[in-house]
Amino acid sequence: KSNLNPRYQFSNFVVGPNNQLTYAASYAVSESLGKAYNPLFIYGGVGLGKTHILHAIGNHIKEKNQKKKVLYISSEEFTNELINSIQYKKMTQFRNKFRELDCLLIDDIQFISKKERTEEEFFHTFNALYENQKQIVMTSDKPPSEIKEIEDRLKSRFNWGLIVDIQPPELETRMAIIRKKAENYNLSLSDDIVEFLAKNFETNVREIEGIIVKINAYASLFKQTINIEFVETILQDVIERKQNTLNVENIQEVVAKHFNITKDTMLSGKRDKHIILPREIAIFLSRKLTQHSLSEIKIKFNMKSHATIINSCSKIEKEIEKSSQLKETIEKIEKNIKNV
Ligand code: ADP
Ligand code: MG
Repeated sequence: KSNLNPRYQFSNFVVGPNNQLTYAASYAVSESLGKAYNPLFIYGGVGLGKTHILHAIGNHIKEKNQKKKVLYISSEEFTNELINSIQYKKMTQFRNKFRELDCLLIDDIQFISKKERTEEEFFHTFNALYENQKQIVMTSDKPPSEIKEIEDRLKSRFNWGLIVDIQPPELETRMAIIRKKAENYNLSLSDDIVEFLAKNFETNVREIEGIIVKINAYASLFKQTINIEFVETILQDVIERKQNTLNVENIQEVVAKHFNITKDTMLSGKRDKHIILPREIAIFLSRKLTQHSLSEIKIKFNMKSHATIINSCSKIEKEIEKSSQLKETIEKIEKNIKNV
């Protein structure tokens, strides 16, 4: 009962500049449990392969040695099992189950925040495994420093090993992923289709996979040959929806225009007051309106540190409370952004 999904392997995980460190660290960890990096903490946005890589680690361990005790569990399932164990007075079994593992793969650890008892129990599980040099791998949608309301003693433990991230894949990697996924469905796609898909689906790999499933279904249902027009037609809805969604570039454009400066000036890093405010507002709105991680926003604003992004956001949040004029301005800009 490892809960491992055999579909997720290292061999079908496409490696690119966006995820190569995570891949290498994950592979190293699965080759030498508890010795390479412990814990290994992997973070990244939605649909970028965190769950995939976690299963891949587990599958690889099992492949090498069937006897190793590996468990994949989401932090929500961890919580549920805990609640159950408390209710039915099975805490000893619960503790033993986790503490006798060679490798614990725990997904979406950010969800244990604000759950005191879960945090407490996970803390002890962590310690027990760590002390016995058993491997712990965790994933999260953000780095430990940004997981709000999680106990410091846990946060600091997340930093004991290695922290790696997965960034959104760039065009070439997306194309490689699309080819790989199509292969899985025995679907053959021409280069122009692969490129078309990669250009239209920028960030979330899960979304790419959904599209391939859709193309495959249409193709076999209607016995259609797949050409680019066909792909364009069936994807029209999805693409329209995507193009309308908010993105940082749009936000920067609209904010700059509102303050009568150019986007380049706004992003130039100048310290003049009339440039700083728009920049901070754009950062604040990017954080509020898009799914991008702090790292991505940092890059899009040419900033050196996460702290600058966080500071800008909290500064604007405070200012809004003080000034109804600023609040109105921002609301107006927000409306403009949504109409773009
Ligand atoms: P996350 O847990 O980060 O939200 P998942 O691991 O569930 O993302 O990945 C979503 C889908 O995208 C899965 O089907 C996964 O196989 C696929 N995927 C993501 N990254 C890659 C990659 N680098 N190579 C192959 N498939 C990938
Ligand atoms: Mg996941």
